Amino acid sequence: METLDAEKRFTTGQVIMAQGEEGDCAYFIQDGRVAIHVTTANGERLDMGTRGEGSLIGEMAIVDNQPRSATIVAMEDCTLLRISKDDFARGVQAANPIVTLISQVILARYRDVLSRSETLGEYGPVGLLEEQEREYAMQSRIGDAIRMANEFKQAIAAGQLFLEYQPMLDLKSGNVVGMEALMRWQHPDRGRISPAEFIPMAEDSGLIVEATRWAMREACSALARVDAALPGIGPELFVSINISAPDFEDEHFFERFHEILQQMQTDPKRIHLEIIERVLIRQLSDVRLLLDRFREIGTSIAIDDFGTGYSSLSYLHRYPIDILKVDQSFIRDMTDDETSMRLVRSILTLGENMGMKIVAEGVETAAQAEILRDLDCDLAQGFHFARPMGETALIEYLKIGRND
Ligand code: C2E
Ligand code: CA
Ligand code: CA
Repeated sequence: METLDAEKRFTTGQVIMAQGEEGDCAYFIQDGRVAIHVTTANGERLDMGTRGEGSLIGEMAIVDNQPRSATIVAMEDCTLLRISKDDFARGVQAANPIVTLISQVILARYRDVLSRSETLGEYGPVGLLEEQEREYAMQSRIGDAIRMANEFKQAIAAGQLFLEYQPMLDLKSGNVVGMEALMRWQHPDRGRISPAEFIPMAEDSGLIVEATRWAMREACSALARVDAALPGIGPELFVSINISAPDFEDEHFFERFHEILQQMQTDPKRIHLEIIERVLIRQLSDVRLLLDRFREIGTSIAIDDFGTGYSSLSYLHRYPIDILKVDQSFIRDMTDDETSMRLVRSILTLGENMGMKIVAEGVETAAQAEILRDLDCDLAQGFHFARPMGETALIEYLKIGRND
């Protein structure tokens, strides 16, 4: 995350910040405990208590230009995450949710300090603040969010991310035609973390942009390895990559994508980008221009979770969209629920009329596959055919999965 520069370590007794000096950063205590004291105008030293793991210290320096109002010393060896004033300001402008959470804590604390102790400044009466702080931390869950974002940032560099691939099949021929790349995080202590947990955090913190670039590079190199292992099958396959809102908002998105493909010598036609509807609704003209550029180089655009987002379909004919992925909830309910069945049928008709391919997601049973085949649905993906799998398993699956 932009706002988290670096881990800083302080040893026992080391001064982290000194009263009166100019402060250019705040710290989040990742590990260890610190003691706070204030020296009054007549030279008297007042102990203001201690702070431990999960606390934010020195935060006033990143919201105003006042000198440090207290001295903070490491009571034991500490690991702090440095949050610089500049990054904080940039983050506020970008409305980064973690930054917003921090601002809430700061403002709540500031208001409290002002109302309860006008003389002692931000470090207030002993004890009182520590108690409130625990409350704030709990309320905002800011500690968890910051810690996880910081770990995720390191995870990208440390090679803890990997991709699994879920085959997508042509329903008529039964052949695998491509696969969706799904991101996985193997955390050193916590084991595998579900994308449902880390993707929203990565999106909120903006770290997804870096993760997506990593995924693109990795997916391209996997394509090359699959081609080498299966020269007869590989080159016909595409890989579908999930794109999030912050990726789309990055002004260099297309250039970076194109650059990666060139570096990896990947044919743009073999890449599909999956985007959820919500992202396409905003900034109509910009999105249109961007999508046109992808179309020019032959990269397909798929709308993910189609049917769950917006009732307005007007955007469909304004954008160059190639594929609709019918959300798994409709496929799941299709056999029992007439409404879902009708919806799937309508989406298939819509796709046909607009020249788009339809992918049915979350196909779990033979009965569902049969219905979809009868309805002339183009492609399908789901546990019935194959679960997401690692690259080696994918190559094995492709060897036996072809019907021709
Ligand atoms: P999604 O893009 O809709 O991906 C499909 C999800 O459905 C995957 O969950 C897949 O494992 C699961 N799935 C596939 N077939 C079936 C089935 O037959 N039944 C059921 N119940 N589930 C099935 P996964 O891998 O846990 O990913 C969850 C979500 O996380 C994805 O939903 C996507 O929104 C996000 N995600 C995963 N990888 C990435 C990534 O690289 N980038 C971004 N931006 N988002 C990702
Ligand atoms: Ca997807
Ligand atoms: Ca989906």
